[in-house]
Amino acid sequence: MSRSDELFSRARRVIPGGVNSPVRAFRAVGGTPPFIVRGDGATVFDADGNVYLDYVQSWGALILGHAHPRVVEAIRAAAANGTSFGAPTPGEVELAERICAAVPSVEAVRLVSSGTEATMSAVRLARGFTGRSKIVKFAGCYHGHADGLLARAGSGVATFGLPDSPGVTGAQARETIVAGFNDLDSVGDAFDAAGEDIACVIVEPVAANMGVVPPAAGFLEGLRKMTEASGALLVFDEVITGFRLSAGGAQRRFGVTPDLTCLGKIIGGGLPVGAFGGRADVMETLAPIGPVYQAGTLSGNPLAVAAGLAMLDAIEDDPPYERLEAMAERLIDGLASAAAEAGVPVTINREASLFSLFFGPGPVADYAGAAAQDARGFAAFFHAMLERGISLAPSAFEAWFLGAAHRDADIDRTVAAAREAFRETR
Ligand code: PMP
Repeated sequence: MSRSDELFSRARRVIPGGVNSPVRAFRAVGGTPPFIVRGDGATVFDADGNVYLDYVQSWGALILGHAHPRVVEAIRAAAANGTSFGAPTPGEVELAERICAAVPSVEAVRLVSSGTEATMSAVRLARGFTGRSKIVKFAGCYHGHADGLLARAGSGVATFGLPDSPGVTGAQARETIVAGFNDLDSVGDAFDAAGEDIACVIVEPVAANMGVVPPAAGFLEGLRKMTEASGALLVFDEVITGFRLSAGGAQRRFGVTPDLTCLGKIIGGGLPVGAFGGRADVMETLAPIGPVYQAGTLSGNPLAVAAGLAMLDAIEDDPPYERLEAMAERLIDGLASAAAEAGVPVTINREASLFSLFFGPGPVADYAGAAAQDARGFAAFFHAMLERGISLAPSAFEAWFLGAAHRDADIDRTVAAAREAFRETR
């Protein structure tokens, strides 16, 4: 029995499914997840001494690789001064200033401890500001696990084929209208039907939780126009895309400015962080200025803030975006030709360095397209890659995450492994 097998069976006795977040359990691909003991750059090491080239990168929370020296040193220095005060600290002011300077829509921002908290709070704020109750989300977009946002969600919810989640009341579900990604007509229908009741439209500007699905030309602009016309707020969930597509996120790349933006992952440098921010007049509706309540004991935590600032400093000193995009192109070209050689039909969607591979002929422009892929083909490919020391996210509905720590040689090794994996599993 491997050490990971042993740990997994102990874990299953005391943690539901043996994991603290469902997709980690490998249910969609089968087998035992390797228990990770260490990471270094693009590499992770498991409890059995296996070494993997890592394309999970903490599900996109890392963009400079594991244990980046600047981030580790910042955390060490902050920890020596105390881990939490529940009082304002200088670091959180600096992080807020940096986010406001980088992200076009953000005039004011509040830090929280996860992406889920960010989206949940943004939706409450949108309701409080507009005095309206309904929200529009898109099938296949994942915005964390707050009750009203679980309808037809992507990521783990899509991976396990869950329609919605028990525990979400009918009353909550009725406040959520689900539209089709890249389908402005369906959004128009929502506004026709519910009109003045819609508080906000929330969207991943580049969907990355049903695999990667970029917005069609005019889609984000259309959402901007429709929300403006109705008096609803437009909320971009940039938990994945923020500081990954560019320092200004998807909104800078596409030139569409939402009213509110949700962030997470990269801005915490691998520590638990989220943030929501946007128009000053909307943000001022929050307590203690306004009546919409939102709070957190560990919000703006000094270690998380120090890690986030170190990460943003490193990105600013040496912007990784061009190199990440070039590596993504190199990898995609290699994967596409490896699949073609083996006669395996795949569709690869990419926006900047963010991409994913669907097992099917495509095209994939929405959740129906993503769900039509061959998930069994992915599972076989996933294991064939893992055996070759390449760690992908254990679900066909996730993006591949590159970081500045990946090298061209890593990309070439990945393509060589994929060539064998496609042939072996076709
Ligand atoms: N929004 C998006 C777009 C996400 O990808 C995620 C998590 N993958 C979340 C929100 C929720 O973030 P967290 O897991 O930190 O709660």
